[in-house]
This record gives sequence, C-alpha cells and structure tokens, in this order.
Amino acid sequence: MSDCIFCKIINKEIPATIIYEDDRFVAFKDINPIDKVHFLIIPKTHEENLLTAKNDLATREMFGEMLMLAPKLAKKEGLEGFRTMINSGVKGGQEVFHIHFHVYGGSDHLRKI
Ligand code: AMP
Ligand code: ZN
Repeated sequence: MSDCIFCKIINKEIPATIIYEDDRFVAFKDINPIDKVHFLIIPKTHEENLLTAKNDLATREMFGEMLMLAPKLAKKEGLEGFRTMINSGVKGGQEVFHIHFHVYGGSDHLRKI
C-alpha cells in the first residue's frame, strides 16, 4: 500500500526506531509513547485490521507468531510485564490502518481495566 505509513516504515521510506525485524514482521518504537516503553509489532504484509482480516489458517498463524513476539521483545526492552492493545476500526480508536499490536509497560501504576 503506497500511502500507508507503516508500509513506508517497512520499506525504509520513512525513518523509525526499529527494534526487531525478520522476514515477516517489524517492530518499532511508537512515535508518541503512552508508557516508558511502547512499541508496535506489524506484519510486513498489509492487513487493515482484525475486522477485515481473513480468518484462515495462514492469517491465524501469522497473528499467533506476531503475538508471541510481544514477550520476547518486551523482555529485550527491559520489561518484566507489559500490556498489549489492538485497536480495530475507527470506532475502536484505530488511526493507522495497517494492523499493529501495541506493546507497552514500564510505569509503576497501570490503571486496572
Ligand atoms: P492506532 O491508534 O492503534 O492506529 O495507533 C497508531 C499508533 O501509531 C499511534 O500510537 C501513533 O503514535 C503511532 N505512529 C504513528 N505514526 C508513527 C510513526 N511514523 N512512527 C512510529 N509510530 C507511529
Ligand atoms: Zn501498510
């Protein structure tokens, strides 16, 4: 997707603080962090969100792999615990329409929800 900012980060057309990359995923620091540590994990394939994603085996496997990167990268970033968030659709607070898992933590006082 040529007008997608996260695809541009994947293609290195715009800069980001990339903390992890492999053949399927990229993780980078959120530009507007809501916690001491806040990064995003995205797939290299452009997928809008959970509302539009196919519920097939390949997609489920991809999201599973993506989720299991969270603890690995959180530990690498020095977190002992973390929170994940996936905003889906405008009414779900999504602003960038390339699916991403927010991973954040580091503050002493997380609001219980
Ligand atoms: P969401 O509201 O779930 O779509 O979240 C989009 C997130 O992307 C926000 O937390 C933004 O701060 C973050 N973001 C937007 N542009 C960039 C960028 N160029 N580099 C890093 N993070 C970004
Ligand atoms: Zn994209």
